[in-house]
This record gives sequence, C-alpha cells and structure tokens, in this order.
Amino acid sequence: MTIKTGIFWFVRGEMIADRYDYIFEEQKQGDFIDYPHSHFAMWDKLSKNRFPYADFATYPRGRLLFDVKRGQYLLYLDRCITEEETKRLLDFYDLGKEKYILSRDEHYSCDKCCKL
Ligand SMILES: [Zn+2]
Repeated sequence: MTIKTGIFWFVRGEMIADRYDYIFEEQKQGDFIDYPHSHFAMWDKLSKNRFPYADFATYPRGRLLFDVKRGQYLLYLDRCITEEETKRLLDFYDLGKEKYILSRDEHYSCDKCCKL
C-alpha cells in the first residue's frame, strides 16, 4: 500500500505542488504519515525563485497527510483555495478513490487571510 503525502501552493491560479510517497509498514508508523519537509524549506526549490517578492507564506498553501488511526487522508487547505483548485489537488494526488477529509486550518493562512 502506498501512502501519498505532499505540500502545495496556488500562485495566481497556478498550482505548485510536490508529492512524496511512502510504502505503508504498519508496525513502524506513528499516528500520522506526513510529508517530510516544511513549506519554508521547500518554497525556493519548488517555486524555482520565480516570485522574488513572495515567501513561503505569501500565497495560499496546504498539506496532504495520512491519519493512520482513522485510515484516511487529511487535506489541509488555506481558506482561499477554491473548490476548483481543490479538485486539481485531488487529481494531482490521485485521491478520487481514497478516503479523505478536507480541513481548513488557520495554520495555513496566506497574506490575504492574515489581512482579514
Ligand atoms: Zn488565504
């Protein structure tokens, strides 16, 4: 069984996303299986420095992880991420046939959220 994890941003409609897959080994896992890097650590690499006036927290972002106890994916989203963008994420991570829940978490707040 493969467990998919990832982080992503939406920059003016463009999806910037990374995915990291684990092979599920039940005995070795904790409560959550999470993408191994932070948004902070990956922003420069994944955005390829194309947005020099932005940092990792400027644009709407989120994270995909797996809740081992509940046996389902957790997709954390900035509240600015639209339904259409959410669909693109479900495609990108191939979650159509998986169990998942969407969660709008204050932790993932972009500049726009923070000004409200
Ligand atoms: Zn936002």
